[in-house]
Amino acid sequence: MNSILNTYSPLSKESYNIYRGEVMREALFTQKVLVIGAGGLGCEILKCLALSGIKEIHVIDLDTIDLTNLNRQFLFRMKDVGKYKAEVAAEFIMKRIPSCKVIPYTKKIQEFAVNFYEEFPVIIAGLDNIEARRWINRVVIQMVQRDENDIVIDGSRHYLIDGGTEGLNGQARVISPFESACYECTLSQLPKQLQYQMCTIASTPRLPEHCIAYVYEVLWQKEQPDLKLDKDNFDHMNWIYQKALERAKQFNIEGVTYKLTLGVVKNIIPAVASTNALIASICTVECIKILTGNGSQLNNYIQWYGQNHQTGVGINVIQQERLDECTECSIQQLQIKVKRTDQLSILLTLLPPDIELYCKGETLITNNNLRKQGFAHLLNQTFQELIKNNILDENVVLKAIDRNKTLNIRVQYE
Ligand SMILES: [Zn+2]
Repeated sequence: MNSILNTYSPLSKESYNIYRGEVMREALFTQKVLVIGAGGLGCEILKCLALSGIKEIHVIDLDTIDLTNLNRQFLFRMKDVGKYKAEVAAEFIMKRIPSCKVIPYTKKIQEFAVNFYEEFPVIIAGLDNIEARRWINRVVIQMVQRDENDIVIDGSRHYLIDGGTEGLNGQARVISPFESACYECTLSQLPKQLQYQMCTIASTPRLPEHCIAYVYEVLWQKEQPDLKLDKDNFDHMNWIYQKALERAKQFNIEGVTYKLTLGVVKNIIPAVASTNALIASICTVECIKILTGNGSQLNNYIQWYGQNHQTGVGINVIQQERLDECTECSIQQLQIKVKRTDQLSILLTLLPPDIELYCKGETLITNNNLRKQGFAHLLNQTFQELIKNNILDENVVLKAIDRNKTLNIRVQYE
């Protein structure tokens, strides 16, 4: 579209501009966008897309609205507490902008088939966790087809725009599979410390950390209003630990320990509405540029610092590079099939000697290590035991170097 407009046009400048505007409007009116997450970032993204003229938006979020969301998730009101975020957000947008159709889903993203995602040229993710981002990244990569020269086939192009905020800081990226770095390519650059979003903590705890954070952020104030929390006081921290254990039991979550309690309590940062607004705007602008073919895309990662030690605020645009050995988007990939009940030692018979085993984004062991005595106890374990014991995760990928080319081998379970 862009290339047609930029070549010779027989129209006068005024007619040309009107024509160009019409083409852009048409592009926004006829294409649909998927938004994942209707939380702090999602509410802002939905509003921006609808006001920009997108006529059909689909939104996925399985969370319900909590009282603590209302200060920044502005599509929700007191009467909506307890209802599904996706449904209330869709209703609000359609009431305010009747020309925009918003279709809500209250399921996990993993419950949709790939052909559901294929309907959307652009998917915008306003997610609060790494695992969901890795999953949607993989799906978007799967949808993109390449020809025999590894060039992306035009009609199969799909984009993932990923936004994220942490307190006063935020970031956004545009992922065009096989053309720019994917989420997995940059996984090793993530900060090691984990942060937890307040909305998840309060309404849908899924991890032991969420239970601890809830006690620290909400229960302490409620049940000990006159006592100032001292993070170095054993009795105070033990109180949080015991209450977190109770909450974890209630939600059938395992893994709350005293040590984890200490780690979580010292790491929480609040959500800031204006950071969400800023990152959502960047995501929306990138989406509009892709849909209309107008303007160059963000290449490919932008960081916003609302708090910077030297200059007060800061903004960086970084071109993140694709990783040759990326487990999701590197050029070559093979699959081998094993049974969950097979022992890890089966890999020794299936693979060449110069192999590395990657898992959870890190090198776990090389094939040579596999043969050494120290790893004998792993060799006798089955895949399902290794997954249960948290040594492997579901996504096991092996890397082989073959004539200076990286070859990824994905382990699939029969
Ligand atoms: Zn990649």
